[in-house]
Amino acid sequence: VAKRLEKFKTTIFTQMSMLAIKHGAINLGQGFPNFDGPDFVKEAAIQAIKDGKNQYARGFGVPDCNAAIAERFKKDTGLVVDPDKEITVTSGCTEAIAATMLGLINPGDEVIVFAPFYDSYEATLSMAGAQVKSITLRPPDFAVPLDEFKSAISKNTRAVLINTPHNPTGKMFTREELDTIASLCIENDVLVFSDEVYDKLAFEADHISMASLPGMYERTVTLNSLGKTFSLTGWKIGWAIAPPHLTWGVRQAHSYLTFATSTPMQSAAAVALRAPDSYYEELRRDYSTKKEILVKGLKDVGFKVFPSSGTYFVVVDHTPFGLENDIAFCEYLIKEVGVVAIPTSVFYLNPEDGKNLVRFTFCKDEGTLLSAVERMKEKL
Ligand code: GLN
Repeated sequence: VAKRLEKFKTTIFTQMSMLAIKHGAINLGQGFPNFDGPDFVKEAAIQAIKDGKNQYARGFGVPDCNAAIAERFKKDTGLVVDPDKEITVTSGCTEAIAATMLGLINPGDEVIVFAPFYDSYEATLSMAGAQVKSITLRPPDFAVPLDEFKSAISKNTRAVLINTPHNPTGKMFTREELDTIASLCIENDVLVFSDEVYDKLAFEADHISMASLPGMYERTVTLNSLGKTFSLTGWKIGWAIAPPHLTWGVRQAHSYLTFATSTPMQSAAAVALRAPDSYYEELRRDYSTKKEILVKGLKDVGFKVFPSSGTYFVVVDHTPFGLENDIAFCEYLIKEVGVVAIPTSVFYLNPEDGKNLVRFTFCKDEGTLLSAVERMKEKL
């Protein structure tokens, strides 16, 4: 394997989902729903295939899909963007992240990330040759240490990568945090890459897009996808929204990574994104109930549970159960209890920072969540 990827192992999500199958454990690890996406979206995909929409898509997106993304973005943020010049459709947000790094970061550029962070950030930054600077968000509230952020910025800082609502903690960046990050980015001419794939799963506060802050659109790449919002994580439809001068870099990388994304799925994505507001309200209500079930259950089991305001994840402190670290705890949980969680130490540059924390997902039907809690009550 190439040197730039030597330190990365099989992703933790793959490892844990394989163990779940091997041990017949209930999988509250990898974030994929165990229920299906909505029929009207699945029907639209079938129809698109039947209608012969099966050849290469326009490289940066099927026109109607770009248009639907622009409409959605306007509803959500009030920003009007040109669907053909400022939106690139990619194979999932993970590709949008990679294309953003590879298209806009030069070797040696510094990029600031907030740990814990989604594992692909560090791997794709490494592919781009970036210097990664990590700032750790700490429990109980995972607030951004703004002074630390300010001192991390140097003349070599090209970008900061944020993720709100935040995987794995469920933290939502506050307006004050976003304002401070924004003004420091403007002052120091730093870009923001903003991963907002959980924007529709915001429970405690309204989601705020970095691009909507004054002066920020021109220096922000907003990254999003269909998977979480429509419970279709296997479709791998994502996108990047950015002003033309940044879109150019993203598209150059995208053109030579995948060239184009699945044509019929983009047609169906356009239908999905035009869902009535009631769809999004119902999604949030359903997930709110699931969250309550899991959070209450985990507290009853005896975990210290940190508040999750968004995403479909919740992070707990496992130390009341006496295992030495998060990896040991998750192994015990799979083998002896029959439940899968994700150890968080892989989401830090310094794994020590995550050794007390594990992540559970609640994107499962209520029966599954309750059975997992029952197993833990019995056997932990
Ligand atoms: N984003 C999902 C999670 O955090 C999984 C993504 C993946 O499997 N690579 O669980």
